[in-house]
Amino acid sequence: MTIAGLLRHGRPTLSYELFPPRTPAAEENLRATARLLLDTQPDFMSITYGASGTTRSTSRKVVQLLAEAHTVPPLAHLTCVDQSRAELIEVIEEYLEEDVKDFLALRGDPPRGTTTWRPHPDGLNYASQLVSLVHEVARAHGILDICVGVAAFPATHAMERWRQSTIDVLRYKEHAGASFAITQVFYEASQYTAMVEDARAQGIEMPIIPEVMPIVSAKRAARASELTGVPTPAELVSALEQAETDDAARAAGVAHAARLSRELLDAGAPGIHVITFNQSAAALELVDAMGLAGRSLP
Ligand code: FAD
Repeated sequence: MTIAGLLRHGRPTLSYELFPPRTPAAEENLRATARLLLDTQPDFMSITYGASGTTRSTSRKVVQLLAEAHTVPPLAHLTCVDQSRAELIEVIEEYLEEDVKDFLALRGDPPRGTTTWRPHPDGLNYASQLVSLVHEVARAHGILDICVGVAAFPATHAMERWRQSTIDVLRYKEHAGASFAITQVFYEASQYTAMVEDARAQGIEMPIIPEVMPIVSAKRAARASELTGVPTPAELVSALEQAETDDAARAAGVAHAARLSRELLDAGAPGIHVITFNQSAAALELVDAMGLAGRSLP
């Protein structure tokens, strides 16, 4: 069953985000992390897609391993960064051959050291074009049971001047064939509910899964806000800074993430997508605190 199918069942989904390892030691750590996360019976695991050729091929390897293992469906992230349309078609075809059914179509972060978006001269400019391309390639191969998700941005939507364009872009994505969205990280449940309300009021139907990041240190908080542009709440930063041990810092981050997750599920979120940074401890503690493991959530 695709992720869209799972979401139609109504029970909140549990999923994790992993990133491609860069060294053999990191690969070993990822395997160990994945084994522990699998014990919680997640509905799917997503694998990010980097800007360089090496991380892209590692992403493909991780997706392939998960697809072959048949333990949990992989959600393969795909981006438009620095790839021609023909190269993207090749990657999509490879995934389809491996029986990957679920894709997250993104424009992608600009490569390291650059901040401005520049499309590949023979490539795509927007994530919605990638959504269409995935469907087009699958149709050309006679494959109809695929599912394409996209990104949504509650913290950007909370800014008055971006409010309507956030919803407009979600609509373009849905019209292109997206059947669910996963949000960027955010820290106030009201930002998520406001975005979902606006989307529904404007006829957008796709389920929107919130992404939750248990932040385990002040350093991680700083890095996360640098990468996403979403500031970490001051009270969380202060709790992380004041923690006397790593365990105490992790407990503060997990407690914050658990509170947010509970508020989101109570507000009707269709699941929780947990950012793991390829580490299992905080993710497992969050899932435990939420009673999410084993798909037993009310
Ligand atoms: P788009 O929808 O293409 O939007 C990009 C910009 O173009 C926005 O400013 C939007 O307002 C504007 N826009 C879109 N459509 C139109 C249009 N038709 N006309 C005019 N303007 C338009 N990055 C990675 O590199 N690898 C990953 O694996 C990855 N995974 C992610 C997972 C999640 C859940 C999220 C939320 C983000 C992820 N990102 C990843 C980051 C993401 O690629 C960036 O945030 C990127 O800047 C925006 O991506 P998008 O898919 O929303 O792009």
